[in-house]
Amino acid sequence: MTKQKRPVLIAGGGIGGLSASIALARTGIKTSVLERSAFTEESGAGIQLGPNATRLLRDMGVLDAIEPAAFKPEAIWLFDGVSGKRLATVPLGDSPEQRYGAPYLTLHRADLHSGLHKVAKDLSPVELRSDFEIAQVQALEDGVAVQNIGGDSVEGSSLVGADGLWSVVRKPIAPHADLHFAGATASRGLVPTKDLPAPFSEPVVGLWLGPRSHLVHYPVRRGEALNVVAVTDGGGEAQGWNQSGDAAALLSEFTRWCRESKSLLERVEAWRRWSLYRLPTLSRWSAGATTLLGDAAHPVLPFLAQGAALAIEDAVTLANSLGALPDDPAAAFRQYEALRRPRATRVQRQSRRFGWIYHLSGPARFARNFALEHRDPGTALDQFDWLYGATSDAATAKSNV
Ligand SMILES: Cc1cc2nc3c(=O)[nH]c(=O)nc-3n(C[C@H](O)[C@H](O)[C@H](O)COP(=O)(O)OP(=O)(O)OC[C@H]3O[C@@H](n4cnc5c(N)ncnc54)[C@H](O)[C@@H]3O)c2cc1C
Repeated sequence: MTKQKRPVLIAGGGIGGLSASIALARTGIKTSVLERSAFTEESGAGIQLGPNATRLLRDMGVLDAIEPAAFKPEAIWLFDGVSGKRLATVPLGDSPEQRYGAPYLTLHRADLHSGLHKVAKDLSPVELRSDFEIAQVQALEDGVAVQNIGGDSVEGSSLVGADGLWSVVRKPIAPHADLHFAGATASRGLVPTKDLPAPFSEPVVGLWLGPRSHLVHYPVRRGEALNVVAVTDGGGEAQGWNQSGDAAALLSEFTRWCRESKSLLERVEAWRRWSLYRLPTLSRWSAGATTLLGDAAHPVLPFLAQGAALAIEDAVTLANSLGALPDDPAAAFRQYEALRRPRATRVQRQSRRFGWIYHLSGPARFARNFALEHRDPGTALDQFDWLYGATSDAATAKSNV
């Protein structure tokens, strides 16, 4: 089934890299996934997966592996964080399955990552190499070589840079593209759901909007824990997902918020925080037999909860393009990039817009609340049809996976 002698190298065994290895294996292409860690996901955060992502995970045989640890929320409830008033409901439950053919799930990142890892490691065309931190990339006449920090080298027929926000593979493709602090900081923590009061005990995603900040919570680990994420404008610029957070400093940003929302923040025993970054739009994602995928190509602010979903979609489109042109990776990567770029750009733009709406203050905040309160819940999902529906190139190309 596997045609080529040398594997496609995948830099990074995170969400996008593992998804790419699975999607490529299903088109008969050998891959070697080079991951700097021991394939552990330690960020300790939750993740929401819209139907555009779960539909592809189902096609790849991953949904069965993650569903037992996931939670299917009944709805998204939107609140005003200052007054505590519930403004709107977006129905979930069985609606995404009926409307888009796949569920909306919330789960712990480690459960998503270990489901992908479990499926990838059982596929014979996939080789998983841990403790391989890529330091350098070199284009060869007929492929690509990468070297790790210890000086070991590996050659492949092509290279997919799925090495995340701080990508090393991106450097030679876009040497002048520097990450910029987006001016906001996310803090996260987990709270046991046992004994939580309403509305936090409800089987829903809660989204609380406030001036220059917002708060999101949703059940993970089959509903045994609540993932809490607080995003505030400002904060210091610091690299990495896992800096320890200062509870008192965070709470001081929420002094004007309602009692319920503050009571949830007070329950979090250990905060971890990370700074949000933006990358200017790259003029290209690919150079010859090397391309980029996921956060390495197009990091997205987390306000639409779509970064991982985009990485999964990228992986499927990439596999379809390379499966169709296995002997010409440069042409396959150009095709992949042309198919994916408009979608990624639209999600990036919409995520920025949602962040701006969430953090409105003054009269604009009241106008937003009024619009939300007067929206018909029956039409609340309409605005997401382009995102969750079977309209993306990745979804329509699924038959090859
Ligand atoms: C606050 C917040 C909340 C979010 N919530 C959601 C959400 O609800 N839903 C959603 O879809 N997305 C969400 N995201 C976005 C999502 O987490 C990312 O977009 C997604 O993880 C990107 O996947 P990736 O494979 O590109 O990168 P990653 O998952 O970060 O994987 C990169 C991998 O590369 C490895 N690596 C890095 N450098 C090297 C190297 N030099 N050599 C070898 N290996 C290397 C890393 O160890 C890692 O395993 C959120 C992000 C944030 C900040």
